[in-house]
Amino acid sequence: MDLGIAGKTAIVCAASKGLGKATAVSLAKNGVNLVINARSKDALEATAAEIRNTTGVTVTAIAADVTTDAGREALLKACANPDILINNAGGPPPGDFRDWGREHWLAAVEANMLTPILLTKAVIDGMIARKFGRVVNITSGAVKAPIDVLGLSNGARSGLTGFIAGLARNPQIAAANVTVNNVLPGAFDTDRLRGVIANQAKKTGKSPEALFAERVKTIPAGRAGRPDEYGELCAFVCS
Ligand code: NAP
Repeated sequence: MDLGIAGKTAIVCAASKGLGKATAVSLAKNGVNLVINARSKDALEATAAEIRNTTGVTVTAIAADVTTDAGREALLKACANPDILINNAGGPPPGDFRDWGREHWLAAVEANMLTPILLTKAVIDGMIARKFGRVVNITSGAVKAPIDVLGLSNGARSGLTGFIAGLARNPQIAAANVTVNNVLPGAFDTDRLRGVIANQAKKTGKSPEALFAERVKTIPAGRAGRPDEYGELCAFVCS
């Protein structure tokens, strides 16, 4: 299927692996030039080279922490006028809410609510002026079906959901062919999912493999999603 986005340019945050990388790959396969980001330079450069070599699009790698002002400035300096913005960052740690203080909550809100809002704010007027824009936020199904140990994620991302739902309905934005969406992953087999399960395994004394199998049993399809399935959906949302 031709998604009609060949030749567009996308910023994809937090994209050296997992869902961000899968989304970057799917956009690249549809001819979208990329500016990708993650903190660890080597892994990011390796992903950039892989995408360049397999798809032929232009890929610029910006190693930076997207949850900081400096990180976001570096990304916007590399690409001030993206046609597509994929917001993403690492998820907050799992745990017991009694262990979290103000600093944990502020870090979660900064990473999983304010960072996508600030990046969207920086690029949306350009999108409106050019009459094309797609903003996709990689968030979590936890905003619809909250997960007990992921309170920081449930809370911070619910704030993002509320804000984005209002923004998407802004007539100035929608009428200018600019769409703003959250795409809510359930359980996808990435390092993040494995990490959350490993953390629970430590606490329960069960093996991570046994816990993973238990988790997967609760999914109607009987398996975790593959990152490429999620990436293809995000690319479709950008069409
Ligand atoms: P992942 O496989 O662990 O990948 C995370 C990616 O984000 C890596 O490339 C990582 O690279 C980068 N990253 C993390 N923090 C960053 C930061 N501050 N600045 C820039 N890059 C950063 O995770 P994932 O499963 O793809 O998850 C992506 C998002 O979806 C997370 O917010 C996660 O909580 C959420 N989610 C995932 C699932 C799931 O089942 N996988 C379900 C619901 C929600 P560096 O470490 O080098 O920065």
